[in-house]
Amino acid sequence: MAFTKKTVRDADVAGKRVLMRVDFNVPLKDGVVTDDTRVRAAIPTIEYLKDKGAKIILMSHLGRPKGDGPEPQFSLKPAADKLAELTGYDVKFVDDTYGEKAKAAVDALQDGEILVLENVRFDKREKKNDPEIAKTLASYGDVFVLDAFGTAHRAQGSVVGPAAYLPAYAGFLLEKEVDTLTSIFAEPERPFVAIVGGSKVSSKIGVLDHLIDSADTLIIGGGMAYTFFLAKGYTVGTSLKEEDWVERAGEMLKKAEEKGVKILLPIDNVVADHFGEDAEGEIVDSDKIPDDRMGMDIGPKTRELYADAIKAAKTVFWNGPMGVFEMDQFAAGTEAVARAVADSDCTSIIGGGDSVAAINKFGLADKMSWISTGGGASMELVEGKALPGVEALLDA
Ligand code: ADP
Ligand code: MG
Repeated sequence: MAFTKKTVRDADVAGKRVLMRVDFNVPLKDGVVTDDTRVRAAIPTIEYLKDKGAKIILMSHLGRPKGDGPEPQFSLKPAADKLAELTGYDVKFVDDTYGEKAKAAVDALQDGEILVLENVRFDKREKKNDPEIAKTLASYGDVFVLDAFGTAHRAQGSVVGPAAYLPAYAGFLLEKEVDTLTSIFAEPERPFVAIVGGSKVSSKIGVLDHLIDSADTLIIGGGMAYTFFLAKGYTVGTSLKEEDWVERAGEMLKKAEEKGVKILLPIDNVVADHFGEDAEGEIVDSDKIPDDRMGMDIGPKTRELYADAIKAAKTVFWNGPMGVFEMDQFAAGTEAVARAVADSDCTSIIGGGDSVAAINKFGLADKMSWISTGGGASMELVEGKALPGVEALLDA
């Protein structure tokens, strides 16, 4: 399935004011960007627009401000500075979003210049998709471009609003994300191995369901494995578990069996007596988890089992770590799986904020075919949902 919306390539942008929603929702520490992945991801579209001589107006949210006015710790200024640093461009910033000051800064823009507006969420109306907000933002541009894949699943003022007033196009990042994450499910090269982990079954139900429909093998790890164990009749000690989802987990196991999809669950586990940095791991088989122990990672036999399955794959989709990888003593499972994916010549697509953080931690990011910049948005796409931001764009 190809991307079905118009992109910036279709837009006439020379000398035009291009209002672009980007995802500059970056982590900050003491006013400095600690991970610039999202800023980097927006550069191809910004460069393209600049080369075409557009006046570029960038807007984004950052963090979760209250929405009652400016909060310095959520300012987009550090992101604007980062963009300047990465591109060498002169990037202007205005500490206003919807007021006269913002308007004046937009009016002063020359062809090829770049302006970053202040955080769109400093006003409550943004999240409510208030039409006044959309109208004000739209008045800054002649053309609207959406490149904020990470927020494309949210029907908020700056994401979908301007498309009601301006011709609306996708940026290159949005196009690539949607294209990659949909085509992998439409026609995966087989065997297609899906890996799902993370903490909860409940947060990934839609994804798991969809993967059982498309994958040949589904590998399960992380905290969610224990709810599947309960469905299989194992006891799980003090492991993370969701009693209300045991039945659903059982149904999924059954559905997979009926469809001939192989589900792999951990055969051994690294368990600990409490959840903490000082916790020590010990290895137990999956049907022998002691009552006073909790599962923190997949065990060594499981690492090998999973790595073998990944080795045979032509396509891998991965969402969710195999264990509590933030603690080094419980990171081996996630690292082993990451290395197996990195070493394979399969097409590998990674989604999910924590999974991406894990891969970065192991320094394996450049070994993957595609790392999605959007956690929630990528999950919704994988579930087969339409993203409101994308829906609002012009059809190709
Ligand atoms: P992603 O952001 O990649 O979608 P999730 O948010 O679903 O992933 O899950 C990531 C979290 O799951 C991590 O913080 C990790 O510590 C936690 N996790 C993984 N395995 C376990 C486990 N066995 N017990 C508790 N938490 C776990
Ligand atoms: Mg997460």
